[in-house]
Amino acid sequence: MIHKIHHLNCGSFCPYCAPLFGQRGFKAKLVCHCLLLETNQGLVLVDTGLGMQDYLHTQKRLGTIISKFGTIKNDINLTAIAQIQKLGFKPSDVKHILVTHLDFDHAGGISDFPQAMVHVLSSEFNATQNFNYKNKIRYKSEQLKQHRYWNFIEPEFGESWYHFSKVQNFKIFQDEILMIPLLGHSEGHCGIAIQQKAHWLLFCGDAYYSHQQLNPKTQLPALEMTERLFAHDNLQRIQSLKQIQLLAQNHPEIEIICAHDPIEFGRYQS
Ligand SMILES: [Zn+2]
Repeated sequence: MIHKIHHLNCGSFCPYCAPLFGQRGFKAKLVCHCLLLETNQGLVLVDTGLGMQDYLHTQKRLGTIISKFGTIKNDINLTAIAQIQKLGFKPSDVKHILVTHLDFDHAGGISDFPQAMVHVLSSEFNATQNFNYKNKIRYKSEQLKQHRYWNFIEPEFGESWYHFSKVQNFKIFQDEILMIPLLGHSEGHCGIAIQQKAHWLLFCGDAYYSHQQLNPKTQLPALEMTERLFAHDNLQRIQSLKQIQLLAQNHPEIEIICAHDPIEFGRYQS
């Protein structure tokens, strides 16, 4: 049972050329929107943003390109572990971590919770072991290599959630937390659907970057270019986005959020 959902920003980036991220102006403002769920089975973290070690040893963990040009706001208070402690919990209360994918800005906090079980699609983890040029930039083995507890999930399809296929063999939270493959941005990218009472929230990770994209009529050519550049498989990415847009149109009662849009994140700040 999901008792409460906290919305955390676990990392801020200010890359140049805002239109590349669907925003106006010179510098974009990106958040790393993560979720902290209070459940009967302890705390569950959905995506982890940047972790303590990313701030303390940026060059070693993230490499020269990202540490020099990543425009990361250096603020340790943004880590999930700092925010979880501020909420009055212990880091060891985090029993499960679900990740949409393992890009460095989503996986950095994993190492702050060494006792937690990380759930990820097996194809995504396998991609982190394939050291081609693109993967070397996006995945950082320093963030992942010490972690002991992994649940690699082979997606078996069959049942659906609305018009999406859902991962069948992920039953830990009965049907209240679902993994929904939203492939394309990365090899094993997936969304996380969370049911609280009768209400659903779909966390889409990097399947889109701006709330404006939920409307299929919106044209954001510069952002399209960025997404194509980051995508593992651009056709799959477009297909996933179309599915999300269809859900937004047909089911306005479902909350749909992505990882980096500050406008969406702002809706949860009182
Ligand atoms: Zn990201």
